[in-house]
Amino acid sequence: MSSEFRDLYQEVIIDHSKHPRNFRVLDSATRTVEAINPLCGDQLTLYVKLDGNRIEDISFEGAGCAISKASTSLMTDALKGKTDEEAIDLFDNVHLMLTEGPGALAEPRALGKLAVLSGVSEFPARVKCASLGWHALKSALEASGERVSTE
Ligand code: ZN
Repeated sequence: MSSEFRDLYQEVIIDHSKHPRNFRVLDSATRTVEAINPLCGDQLTLYVKLDGNRIEDISFEGAGCAISKASTSLMTDALKGKTDEEAIDLFDNVHLMLTEGPGALAEPRALGKLAVLSGVSEFPARVKCASLGWHALKSALEASGERVSTE
């Protein structure tokens, strides 16, 4: 990773953790999922408003470390207007990038701004923080449960 990219990565993460986007309760949500990462103490509630199979609106609330907040904030920004299929596709790619590193991606550019999260793969202890919101998303879209724990 170039130092230039590392600086950008830190800048975006810090910005999104201090000023998380879509950080609010969504009263009109059609799916609500609570997620916790006991290892770090991160906890969040993800709100998704589906219109058919399209994510009309998405937001979250909660408390956690900078990585968990920034990752979920970036996720909500990236997913508005996407279909559930596109969202799951993004989940798969982000999950792959976080667990195996950016080199594992067939099309790294497809992740856009989310690529700033690739640095997290160098810190295994933070991978659960970065993937918490994403697991909540998957659960929300699959409606498989109301609670998610990364443990
Ligand atoms: Zn954390």
